[in-house]
Amino acid sequence: MTKTESLAAQYAQHIIPTYSPSLALVKGRGSRVWDAEGKVYLDFTSGIAVLNVGHCHPRIVEAVRKQTTELMHASNLFYTEPQAQLAARLNTLALGGKCFFCNSGAEANEALIKLARLYGKSRNRFEIITFQNSFHGRTLAALAATGQTKYRNGFEPMPEGFVHVPFNDLDAVRAAITEKTAAILVEAIQGEGGVIPADPNFLRGLRALCDAQDILLLMDEVQCGLGRTGHWFGYQSSGIAPDAFSLAKSLGGGLPIGALVASPKVADTFQPGKHASTFGGNPVTCAAALAVLSVLEDEQLVSRTAKLGAQFRARLETLVGRFPRVKSVRGLGFMLGLVLEEPAKPFVEALREKGLLAIATAETVVRFLPPLNVKETELEEAFEILEEALSELHGMPLPEET
Ligand SMILES: *Cc1c(COP(=O)(O)O)cnc(C)c1O
Repeated sequence: MTKTESLAAQYAQHIIPTYSPSLALVKGRGSRVWDAEGKVYLDFTSGIAVLNVGHCHPRIVEAVRKQTTELMHASNLFYTEPQAQLAARLNTLALGGKCFFCNSGAEANEALIKLARLYGKSRNRFEIITFQNSFHGRTLAALAATGQTKYRNGFEPMPEGFVHVPFNDLDAVRAAITEKTAAILVEAIQGEGGVIPADPNFLRGLRALCDAQDILLLMDEVQCGLGRTGHWFGYQSSGIAPDAFSLAKSLGGGLPIGALVASPKVADTFQPGKHASTFGGNPVTCAAALAVLSVLEDEQLVSRTAKLGAQFRARLETLVGRFPRVKSVRGLGFMLGLVLEEPAKPFVEALREKGLLAIATAETVVRFLPPLNVKETELEEAFEILEEALSELHGMPLPEET
């Protein structure tokens, strides 16, 4: 039995089967991972948009090592320096207000939802408009916000107060607003939904609708935040700013941390006792996050992502005419989707065989989320694997090298 088979057997016996993993990973460095059998892969999943600065970045490792020797946990009964520093850094990067820390994306969205309800309370506004095909997490309220029935099936009744309308359809939003509407929650790019960017005019329209009626504009930046789109935050691609947004995934460089980032207008909505998290703002995860922000800044990864992401996207687009089963390319920065004419899963498996890890999303989309510090040679290598796999899928020979 191989190590992978042995692990699969242990999982089958002991792990509640909510996932269906493929490889067993034992090591990661930069854009590469090693499986339990010693095979190396280019990791264009980045732990699902978590490893924006790559696997085991030495500065993250050192920050975590140092903090674990000082203070690993305190709880929010006490002040700690990393939490204060991280909030100050985030508030300087965006909105100029205040932060609340938690441990995951779903929890950060729960905090947004609770904040919106509290903010709307005095005017009896509690409804939140979200979008079809959106993804906001698996806790019950985040699931109720998520506009995909497949994730909700079996868990009814859902918490009340959520209305789903078509994405990128401003008239539908206008029609859905009532005297009960407290907030609109939207992703700048729907990630799990299939890498579908919001139209900048749609986001600007939402901002105007919200301003006109004192409705909060909330953005879920869990996947698209922190440089992924070639902007610090996905909403910046449309030039607007939300009243508050959620972060998680890449914030901790691989450690679990989520954040609600609030503008001054809503920064004091929660008062003592209104919300809490035991681990929220833990010194180790905050130290990791501080190192992540420093790496993004010092290695200029946001502008690099805008540049290299556009170049990689342009290369992906050359595949559209060349291979009939490639329909289109979507996305921004290093959040890119290759839309196929057929289910993406077998194709993603073929890529994995050839040493490239990607994610099959929304049935037919191959999602690429390389680390933002991926090397140009690694992008080249990934593209060659992709070309080869597409040639095989189409039963076409690759053109001769000239
Ligand atoms: C992954 C994701 C979430 C949920 O994050 P968890 O940490 O898994 O709870 C929420 N929103 C978006 C946009 C995501 O991509």
